[in-house]
Amino acid sequence: MSNPNSGTIAHQVSGSLLSDANTRLEKALRYVTIGEDAIERLRAPKASLTVSIPVRMDDGSLRVFQGYRVRYDDSRGPTKGGIRFHPGVTLDEVESLAFWMTFKCAVLNLPFGGAKGGVTVNPKELSKFELESLSRGYIDAIADFIGPDVDIPAPDVYTNAMIMGWMMDQYSTIRRQITPGVVTGKPITMGGSLGRETATAMGAFFSIQTLMPKLDRKPSETTVAVQGFGNAGAVLAELLYRAGYKVVAVSDSQGGVYAAQGLDIPSVRQIKDATRGIKAVYCRGSVCSQIDHEVITNGQLLELDVDILIPAALENQITAENADRIQARYIFEVANGPITSAADAILESKGIQVFPDILVNAGGVTVSYFEWVQNRSGLYWSLEEVNRRLNEKMTEETERIWVTAKELSCSMRTAAYVHALDRLGQALRTRGTREDYRS
Ligand code: GLU
Repeated sequence: MSNPNSGTIAHQVSGSLLSDANTRLEKALRYVTIGEDAIERLRAPKASLTVSIPVRMDDGSLRVFQGYRVRYDDSRGPTKGGIRFHPGVTLDEVESLAFWMTFKCAVLNLPFGGAKGGVTVNPKELSKFELESLSRGYIDAIADFIGPDVDIPAPDVYTNAMIMGWMMDQYSTIRRQITPGVVTGKPITMGGSLGRETATAMGAFFSIQTLMPKLDRKPSETTVAVQGFGNAGAVLAELLYRAGYKVVAVSDSQGGVYAAQGLDIPSVRQIKDATRGIKAVYCRGSVCSQIDHEVITNGQLLELDVDILIPAALENQITAENADRIQARYIFEVANGPITSAADAILESKGIQVFPDILVNAGGVTVSYFEWVQNRSGLYWSLEEVNRRLNEKMTEETERIWVTAKELSCSMRTAAYVHALDRLGQALRTRGTREDYRS
């Protein structure tokens, strides 16, 4: 099929993440006609803000941290996306992630555009006081750039509910009015939503469950390896374990364990909470004993011969270097961007099916949307209500993308981009196209 769209979408940034995202879009553009005007609009972020955040450290010294907030596109609604605190954060990375959020919100049909924020810092080196000062200082610096009808931050890598609470508090102090809808992922007592903490894992679980019958697979005959044992990975491993899947390997940033007979995930979580380490154990009460297992590295986990591989840690885990050694039959991307586009092509040639991040991990932003709705209406939902609505959204969009992938004979990733582009294209077209203005 010839490409009816001319030009590329993403603007000229040298960063590998954004050019990777661009490669995926190029593929999707072969299947949809979104028009030159829309492409022109999506070429660059709507606004990028760089700030310096002075923080008085515990020893009395002053440190200035670099922070960013990028609003990529708001044609479908206020912009939405998390804030990461990580030493590797750059403006380029934040812009790429904001671009991704634009597509993720469109895939789930949420009335939001995409944004992202970040501070270049290793939060593990800060005391609680310093972390609070940094979080409040970040909001002081970006307060005029965000708002419940403008741009709504949320947690991302190394930020959590407590940090979101400080941020909401600070914004409310600046505005002189309690404004819970300015940030999502807050503590429940500050207007957070039930189910937000587990939403990314729960959303991924609903998506996997929707796909299993289509892939002709039964949970009891399906082995799973999960890379990353944080909020998303650990909760998802347990949901899968309870649904009867055989979770044979898990890891955290220090490495992992493999047990052919399957791991008892609640026990692994129990020991991780108590010792901060991953161990292959079976616990009865507080007494845990080791089961037969092998200690493995993160790299080895990715290359295990399992049915389902779930990268739930950071980006760029499966690259052109290791893609050829991946043996899993299916990969569900719970992290943002764990597979590079070069690796995509290798996996495809090996017949490995990839279910993309902008669908699979969208449960987090979906429940963020529910949180924002609850904040604005003042009516709070039960956990059952949150999960029922999340299930409905994840199932509906997973089904849709599955059908599109079949119809177009393309990958699930391309099908997800096709959906998002179609919705973004409609929103941009409604404001007028060159055809409307031609006399
Ligand atoms: N940081 C999460 C993501 O990448 C959640 C964003 C949000 O809830 O706004 O999807």
